[in-house]
Amino acid sequence: MSAETIPDRLDLLLGRLKLGVIRDQLDALLDEAARGELSMRETVALLCEREVARRDHRRIEMAMGLARFPFARDLAGFDFSAQPSLDPKQLRDLAQGRWIANGDNLLLLGPPGVGKTHLAVALGREAILAGYGVLFTPAAVLVAQLSKAHEQGALEDKLASLAKPKLLIIDELGYLPFDPNAAHLFFQLVSRRYERGAMLITSNRAVGDWGEVFGDTIVATAILDRLLHHSAVITIRGDSYRLREKRRAGLLQKPAPTEPKTKS
Ligand code: ADP
Ligand code: MG
Repeated sequence: MSAETIPDRLDLLLGRLKLGVIRDQLDALLDEAARGELSMRETVALLCEREVARRDHRRIEMAMGLARFPFARDLAGFDFSAQPSLDPKQLRDLAQGRWIANGDNLLLLGPPGVGKTHLAVALGREAILAGYGVLFTPAAVLVAQLSKAHEQGALEDKLASLAKPKLLIIDELGYLPFDPNAAHLFFQLVSRRYERGAMLITSNRAVGDWGEVFGDTIVATAILDRLLHHSAVITIRGDSYRLREKRRAGLLQKPAPTEPKTKS
């Protein structure tokens, strides 16, 4: 046997195996196992479980960072009673992520403030917990990046990098109309991901208005054809949640009920 003590050797070996939790917490973990009167196998299982738990935690933290969500939101924080046009069961089902595994798409449509971005982030978070890579991008940023890459002759690389995350969330499509070149670039992105990677798109415009958004009905039809082929469309109706909260706090008047017009 070498001159090294057993603890030193173990430290070194666990370090080489990159089992940092076991290395750093070995004494405490062995105490825990002794207190619980665990068998040898159970003890090994306990050590492995703690190591795996740390790795999962790190992976999730890293993936949440890479996703670039604009804010932290989850499904538990969504008040479904404030949004009766939504079916909580449907959203819980979507949170299971089968559509992501299949490379399907989800469109969340509705006026400003009804919770589209909140739900997109919440579903993105669930996707990360399930082990999928996610990227969140506002539509305007996405289009600017595609145009820049195109100008610099780097479109192929950009499309390849946008095809990587299993779920791509494109937020606020339709707030700004696209120029025809941007619509073509967007079409290329959609084609690239078609049936391979899932997309979640939020928009304040109904699908029927997308010709206007893309500034070209032919491109819009081609984009929609691919987007809608395997997809779910959820339309949220109702009042802005933000304004509702303000109204509740007494900062805003409730909109007066519209009077029927009287003949003069
Ligand atoms: P949209 O993207 O549709 O414009 P957001 O998702 O940005 O709306 O929602 C605006 C704000 O209101 C966010 O802070 C969001 O978390 C909150 N919000 C909206 N709807 C709900 C809801 N039903 N329950 C809880 N918070 C909500
Ligand atoms: Mg939004």
